[in-house]
Amino acid sequence: MTTIEDANNALLKILDVGSKKNVVELGWIKNVRVTIPRVILTLSLPSFANSQRDRIVQEVRSTLLNFHDISDVQIELDNNIPQSEIKSENNVPDLQKVKGIKHIIAVSSGKGGVGKSTIAVNVACSLAKLGLKIGLLDADIYGPNTPLMLGVSEENPKVTEGIGNDQRLIPINKFGISLVSMGFLIEEGQPVIWRGPMLNSIIRQFLYQVEWENLDFLVIDLPPGTGDAQISLAQSVPISGTIIVTTPQQVSLQDARRGLAMFKQLGVPLLGIVENMSAFIPPDMPHKKYEIFGKGAGKTLADENNLKLLAQIPIEIPLVSESNDGIPISISQPNKESSIKFKELAKLIKHKFND
Ligand code: ADP
Repeated sequence: MTTIEDANNALLKILDVGSKKNVVELGWIKNVRVTIPRVILTLSLPSFANSQRDRIVQEVRSTLLNFHDISDVQIELDNNIPQSEIKSENNVPDLQKVKGIKHIIAVSSGKGGVGKSTIAVNVACSLAKLGLKIGLLDADIYGPNTPLMLGVSEENPKVTEGIGNDQRLIPINKFGISLVSMGFLIEEGQPVIWRGPMLNSIIRQFLYQVEWENLDFLVIDLPPGTGDAQISLAQSVPISGTIIVTTPQQVSLQDARRGLAMFKQLGVPLLGIVENMSAFIPPDMPHKKYEIFGKGAGKTLADENNLKLLAQIPIEIPLVSESNDGIPISISQPNKESSIKFKELAKLIKHKFND
């Protein structure tokens, strides 16, 4: 007759893809109970392993159903709630500094496609080039592009020793940046069906369950718009400054205003506005600029809110091609105008917070 020990032993062959450790040792499968013909067990996955859930469930079932006297496998889900999720008495979450991070800079935009990720990646690279220790957290669930932009989309982050909530995700290092991205957790081609509460806990786990090592700055690439990610972040950690990215068209203003108003309402400090795609610089005529997307939205937004227009980044062809090749322009072509602007922006951030 199949015993608990038999069931546990059989489950040892099911492995976490990152650490290659088995799910029993990791504490992801626990409380195995056998009452022939049924096995009941608890699945307790840290959020960063959620993308493996369906595979693990399938393997657990098929492994246990191999026993001739088992015909029913019931899997209970145990939601890991990290300490940081526990609210204070009045139900308002306490802002909690993240161990190993001095300052958090959030990069946000009212809508997608304005170059928010491009700005986040290049600012992070430029800060790293100033000799600072930099992390990049890509929380953009709708388009987690930073692994591609940094040429690490094939990599799988590893997990530290320990079990359950003691485990930490180890960021991927590239160009002096420690990167963690939703892109590592969502399989390619999978539709984005994360619900608000799940996204909430993912963002918090990204902050508290990642092995960040003595960062001067963590740059966070937020999803566009005014959703749960922004609120969750604002209610979890003290943010030093938020950068709002917009394009120069007047029609962008409406979205950008909405985003900005939300951060104000949440009491998050705003660092200023970055206007992206300000003018096109033709590669063969670098002294010329064409304002193909109109002009002025960045300045209008900054003036309306008494904020600084921190930078105006031009449209440059290498900004697209190089990021498709996995090398941000600020690394590959430091003399291009946009790279110079990113460097100035990085210096401004350094001097404001780190000097
Ligand atoms: P978002 O994060 O706002 O959705 P991305 O950073 O992914 O936007 O940029 C969208 C597209 O525009 C990408 O293909 C990117 O390479 C391109 N892009 C962004 N900024 C610029 C720029 N200043 N010049 C040229 N292309 C740009």
